[in-house]
Amino acid sequence: MDFESLKSDYLRCTKCLELCQSRTQVVFGSGNQKAEVLLIGEAPGASEDRNGVPFCGMSGKVLDELLNSINLDRKDIFITNTILCRPPDNRNPKKEEVNNCSYRLNQLISIIKPKVIVTIGNFATESILGKTGIKSLRGNKFDYNGAVVIPIIHPASYLYSGRNPEMLQEMKNDFKKVAEMIEVNKRQKTLGHF
Ligand code: URA
Repeated sequence: MDFESLKSDYLRCTKCLELCQSRTQVVFGSGNQKAEVLLIGEAPGASEDRNGVPFCGMSGKVLDELLNSINLDRKDIFITNTILCRPPDNRNPKKEEVNNCSYRLNQLISIIKPKVIVTIGNFATESILGKTGIKSLRGNKFDYNGAVVIPIIHPASYLYSGRNPEMLQEMKNDFKKVAEMIEVNKRQKTLGHF
């Protein structure tokens, strides 16, 4: 399966009946299909559902600040979500919806072959690592089939906190680990390790 066939299959997906009724469109993801860094959020919100682009609303602005803090450009990474369709009234994704979308997520990972996966918030982290508790998992490194996984706090939590500056600093610190891993991969590449 290649990227385009996976995308065209899922743009027509009808696995989750309720989400098919509530979505305007499937938000498959955006960015570089050959990216070394893959970001996985939770689910599209209202702006994403309208525009078809992940993280293009308020949370996206915070994400852009975090990416800027390590000089990472959206065109150099790929961004998707744990589920591809907006849940009604922005409710949490249901277990069944996460399960329905996890085959697609795994397929996407095996096509893009990222070296670093950033799981944004609890849902993405649980879907990839099978672990819960983002507050204690955040900023740590885990393995997923050879890729380094770094969970981070979801920007929406920061917004709900009333933009707690300490939380933003923690998120920036966690993003520094992403930058470190990108550097490690660069060095390994120059040494001809892959
Ligand atoms: N929150 C997410 O988790 N994903 C988006 O795409 C937007 C907001």
